[in-house]
Amino acid sequence: MDEICPLCGRELIPGPSVDKHHLVPKSRKGKETTLLHRVCHRKIHSLFTEKELAGNLNTVEALLENEDIQNFVKWVRKKPPEFYDGTKTARSKRR
Ligand SMILES: [Zn+2]
Ligand SMILES: [Zn+2]
Repeated sequence: MDEICPLCGRELIPGPSVDKHHLVPKSRKGKETTLLHRVCHRKIHSLFTEKELAGNLNTVEALLENEDIQNFVKWVRKKPPEFYDGTKTARSKRR
């Protein structure tokens, strides 16, 4: 199985680095989910509210038109596919 993250285009390695995202938030009766990296997923939710996601940004294509997402993708593409921790505010939660 070689799943690819629709956001950054890197490989998805099954495990803690992979997350499921509702393209339309659950609270808006969204059913369709897509797999993407945990970092990519976190980024989406840190940039956009559920309202925005349910509105104009309910497709990956729409998300990719956003400049902040584009900058993030440029950055995350240099990371190994299993990378998911250590975003700026990693705090003291380390293993
Ligand atoms: Zn990704
Ligand atoms: Zn999500």
